[in-house]
Amino acid sequence: MSLADLEHAAFLLRDHLGADTGPATDCRGDSTGPEMTSVWTTVVELVLNRRSRSTQTSVPEDSALIDATACASLSTLELAALLEKSRLSTRLAAPLAALARWWVDNVSVIDPEDASDGDGRDQPPWEARRKQASRSLDTVRGVSRELGERIRLFALGEPVTPVSRAAQRVFCRHGWLDLQSEYDDWQSTLSRWAESYSLDRRQITQWLDELGSRWCGPKPKCDECPLKELLPRGGPYELDGE
Ligand code: SF4
Repeated sequence: MSLADLEHAAFLLRDHLGADTGPATDCRGDSTGPEMTSVWTTVVELVLNRRSRSTQTSVPEDSALIDATACASLSTLELAALLEKSRLSTRLAAPLAALARWWVDNVSVIDPEDASDGDGRDQPPWEARRKQASRSLDTVRGVSRELGERIRLFALGEPVTPVSRAAQRVFCRHGWLDLQSEYDDWQSTLSRWAESYSLDRRQITQWLDELGSRWCGPKPKCDECPLKELLPRGGPYELDGE
């Protein structure tokens, strides 16, 4: 894969899909940090969509879902009933319940160790929360690696790029990476793409999600796709199992 291909891809995607990352929870350099309610709402939206915020299902404002503490106090069955009432998928009740408890246990309360920057000085509260939240996220049952990275990127403002099925389809069909590549290779390639062209990682994630939902699904619709001019001679590479 050449970086020139990725530069060309970014140009085509910006041209066809635009550049709009929507409201961000990115507050590096801001000592007070974001409203915690809005960070939690972003987490809920990510669970409801399992994808970027560009195509989000909004959380109803009058729903208890926007209150992490209220969610954490409900059983999975009660949460499922709440989701059903809002016409949302009840299958998401279990991961949502687990994330609400994660939030209450790890984000609402700052561990004294995380409150310090290691040199004995207090960190800004948001930095301490972000560090503690990120470190503990991997232990939440029902949260996949991809969803965890979406939460880190969109809710916690960390510089990660989720490796989605859409990303894998696009990159493998163009021969830029193969499915056997290690997860770290995916991360470093996506990071190089972002860093080389000063692209917002949220933007890259949204572009890949949109490519996946509109053109690059299980059966690629290359003739209509913005990236068709970057296909290898002879067309897209076949993906095993598709
Ligand atoms: S649909 Fe075809 S042209 Fe578009 S990203 Fe997928 S493989 Fe590439």
